[in-house]
Amino acid sequence: MKNKGYMGKILHVDLAANEIREEVLPDSVYKKYLGGMGLAAYVLYEKIPAGADPLGPDNILGFLPGLLTGTGSFFTGRWMVVGKSPLTGGWGDANCGGTFSPAIKRCGYDGIFFSGISEKPVYLYMDDHVRELRDASDVWGMDAVETEEYLGKKDGNKGKQPKVACIGPAGESISLISGISTDKGRMAARSGLGAVMGAKRLKALVLAGSKRIVPHDREEIKKISQTCNKWVQFQPPFVSGPMTAFVGALLRFLPTVMAMDGMLYKIMLKKWGTVAMNQMSPEMGDSPLKNWKGSIKDWGIRKSYASNPDVFIDCEKVKYHCYACPLGCGGICTTEGKYSETHKPEYETVLSLGGFCMNEDVEAIFYLNEVLNRAGMDTISAGHAIAFAMECYEHGVITREDADGLDLTWGNSEAIVELVEKMVRREGFGHVLADGVKQAVERIGKKAEPYAVLAGGQEPAMHDSRNDPGFALHYSVEPTPGRHTLGSLLYYEMFQLWKVVKGIPKAPAMYWKGSKYNDPDKLAEFGATTSKYMTIVNSVGGCLFGAFLGAKRIRFFDWMNAATGWEFTPNQYMDKAADIHTLKQAFNVKHGLEPNKIKISERALGRPAQTEGANKGRSVEIEAMMSRYWEQFGWDGETGKPSSEHVERIAAAGGK
Ligand code: SF4
Repeated sequence: MKNKGYMGKILHVDLAANEIREEVLPDSVYKKYLGGMGLAAYVLYEKIPAGADPLGPDNILGFLPGLLTGTGSFFTGRWMVVGKSPLTGGWGDANCGGTFSPAIKRCGYDGIFFSGISEKPVYLYMDDHVRELRDASDVWGMDAVETEEYLGKKDGNKGKQPKVACIGPAGESISLISGISTDKGRMAARSGLGAVMGAKRLKALVLAGSKRIVPHDREEIKKISQTCNKWVQFQPPFVSGPMTAFVGALLRFLPTVMAMDGMLYKIMLKKWGTVAMNQMSPEMGDSPLKNWKGSIKDWGIRKSYASNPDVFIDCEKVKYHCYACPLGCGGICTTEGKYSETHKPEYETVLSLGGFCMNEDVEAIFYLNEVLNRAGMDTISAGHAIAFAMECYEHGVITREDADGLDLTWGNSEAIVELVEKMVRREGFGHVLADGVKQAVERIGKKAEPYAVLAGGQEPAMHDSRNDPGFALHYSVEPTPGRHTLGSLLYYEMFQLWKVVKGIPKAPAMYWKGSKYNDPDKLAEFGATTSKYMTIVNSVGGCLFGAFLGAKRIRFFDWMNAATGWEFTPNQYMDKAADIHTLKQAFNVKHGLEPNKIKISERALGRPAQTEGANKGRSVEIEAMMSRYWEQFGWDGETGKPSSEHVERIAAAGGK
């Protein structure tokens, strides 16, 4: 064990051969790739052969905590699942909070990587003495919550309270929009990696280790954590839930934008969780509505009021924090009907199954939140699939008969509920949608294509790229496209990196709204810096919401030095992040993707521009921005590809 915050080893599990093998990594690998996302890039780039079938034996599925997980630093308890995505055909990852991340390290590893395909369903069990693949035929078919409860007790070894990550029926049936669940319904949902786990016949990881995680300088970590905590705990009284709608409307009408300080978002997050944005975001133009063709004219305050943030905390029976989080945006809500409780739905879920489908029925959203969490299906992609089907129905591309008799009129909550249940069971028309929008177009035919809004094969998240062109950029250029957690103009403002990283531009404190669409150079520079910082956040196991408080308040760079004993500057860490990001891009190129052919659909770029609502008249000239962004990393400005010399230099520098 090392006094460096990391364990110094990873585990390789060959599911076909039933072999488990440790690999000790030299310090040089950690110094170069950190942990989490960075370590994943190092392993996957080298080990997954070009052209590997994402659902075949050559794909590798990795589970990783962060470099800082378990060291006493704050906001660093998130874990990451990685692999080649069956949805995009390129780099895939998904990120989740809860309590699973330190459990990987307590078993003694900085990552667990699965290859091959098991002959029969299995799960990996590990504690301090046992490390084996066990028969999972008794849990195959159970939903994610049942699986966790069952396996937790079965292998519990009283008092050890194992942590479980598992797939539900969606992963088992290889739904390309399935994810991996922990903590009874928290989901690492994106990139379709639940399907990779299902294809490998790996039902779960059950981890009950108790190894110590020993940082280099615990006292220093504690000191930094205490200074961070004072920012998190500052919590003045804030407006009521419905008032957030008026704040959003005000932001819509103002001709100027003021740079956002993440403290404001933190105050809202601490009070409500992400549902704080349920009314504010549609009002200000941040929420795509009605499958990206609607606007505030379709989804005004009267409709969004049903999902005002207070509705969610009124039924919150308990608030909870992820591991090592001083903020605690999570909650368990009581519900009526089949399930008595569910995790407080996230903003993304409420919008994708609400305003995105014109659905005002909040009870239905609570119910579907639990249905999808138990199935292990991505709520963003599921909402997209339903809205896409509704628009196809509106235009006569699919009929009531095609839809198994369901009336897919916008906002019909009974039909939405039934269709989601059918998707989970892959039954009838549900099968058409069960693998997301891209596959649905292939099943319905070309006539459905105009209604598909995608980014590189994945359904983009519930933040409108016409409102913040930074989302348009990151949805298009990230090695995992369509993700809202990787960057935007707003994030650049909130990260306030110029306070700790030398030589990067400060976000303007105030500017005319229109001006944010016409400077590709500046947007690309902000975007590249944001991508690097998010690579750091995802390599240390960091939470995006912690990062929103700003790099001077939530000090990931200082924590890394205190945990490892390294003495790198923030600029040196950002250079490492650029290399990791380049390796992920090189992964996509190695697997045949053409970065300049991946960009978010025209509708989400405002082509043509909307004629009403908050984003009226706006369109994003994405091509120039993408090109400038690639150049920021030293990649080819036309193709988006890093040169082979560039990639070889990075790969060689991390060698053993
Ligand atoms: S802010 Fe929320 S999502 Fe982030 S670590 Fe804390 S509880 Fe988890």
